[in-house]
Amino acid sequence: MTIGTTRPLRGAEHEILQALRLQGPSTRAELVRCTGLSRATVSAATSRLRDDGRVESAGAVPSRRGIGRTPERLALSVTGAVLLGVEFGHRRVTVTAMDEAHHVEGTASAGYDHETPWPRRVRAALELIQELDLEGRRILAVGLGVPGRITDREAVARSLVETFTSRVARQVRADNNARLAGLAEAVWGAGRELESFVYLRLMDGVGGALISRGAIYEGLHGAAGEFGHMTVDPTGPACRCGKRGCLEAYVSREKILEATVQRDLGALRVALDAGDARRRSIVADSGHRIGVVLANVCTALDVEGVVLGGDLLDLAHHLTDPLAAAFAANLMPERAARIAVHSGRIRQVDGALGGIALVLRDPTISLADSDSGTVPRDLKGRLTS
Ligand SMILES: [Zn+2]
Repeated sequence: MTIGTTRPLRGAEHEILQALRLQGPSTRAELVRCTGLSRATVSAATSRLRDDGRVESAGAVPSRRGIGRTPERLALSVTGAVLLGVEFGHRRVTVTAMDEAHHVEGTASAGYDHETPWPRRVRAALELIQELDLEGRRILAVGLGVPGRITDREAVARSLVETFTSRVARQVRADNNARLAGLAEAVWGAGRELESFVYLRLMDGVGGALISRGAIYEGLHGAAGEFGHMTVDPTGPACRCGKRGCLEAYVSREKILEATVQRDLGALRVALDAGDARRRSIVADSGHRIGVVLANVCTALDVEGVVLGGDLLDLAHHLTDPLAAAFAANLMPERAARIAVHSGRIRQVDGALGGIALVLRDPTISLADSDSGTVPRDLKGRLTS
């Protein structure tokens, strides 16, 4: 659909378009709540935006009981263009495509070795974009997730942005992948209803973010959220950051697999389910350590909740039950009942979706970019040159 007018937008219309861009399909009541505009203003503005073709119906809110009238949701009009999110993890790359109405058009993922050099990771990502079958569609923007502190990875991030800008889309942004995963939970997952939360991603390392009113707290050097390097025991084992006894020196995919002598998390989960007492105790101890650190963080920050993500959630209650117990036991009593620990809802695609959230939130990125290129027939050919 093309936007059929160049009529100047009024303030309320801008606010509604911005809200639909950030949070996706919304009812008029939700738009009233998040913009602070009156019902009458939202109603008049949305009807003008519909007449212009900028906004369209996204269907009714799914009814729980299947009876009664359910409110209509509105979304930005789709133009056939897509936004891409790409997460480069330590062990896999994931690509996902979404339209302006927040409908996921496709997702693809490929594994690689921990030591895989960047050019091969990039090539794997480009092959995945090709697999998504987006030929001929405009790519409005790309959001890239990169592991590690973005301040330590400036050269990598800059080079990735340059590569994707020259080959995939004109508008490209990058940020730390754990933070982006938290942002995805804030927009589409377990953090959607939370005013503020601590997001902890339990993977090869322990990263995360503090998210308040939908925005990531960056810190002075853009390095906030390094929960994995909080000291658990100053006399503990050496950590890769140069300190001793960091949370990450006890709790990471590698440390847990090493301690339990398992080759992967799937095999460990089978052993745990079968009642292996020694391995259960190692995993419970990890959960306990995470819970104590999270309780300290939440005591200081007074957030509404905690959202967990990352592959270690494959260990399910074996990890999360002791974690939640230690969390509650180490909060001040009046807070223990108020702050809940939620498991993330997005999981495998969280970092890639977070890339899309990053570009949606960036006011310098235009969704009406008529200069954006289309996906060529032979993307891979162009990409490997
Ligand atoms: Zn450390």
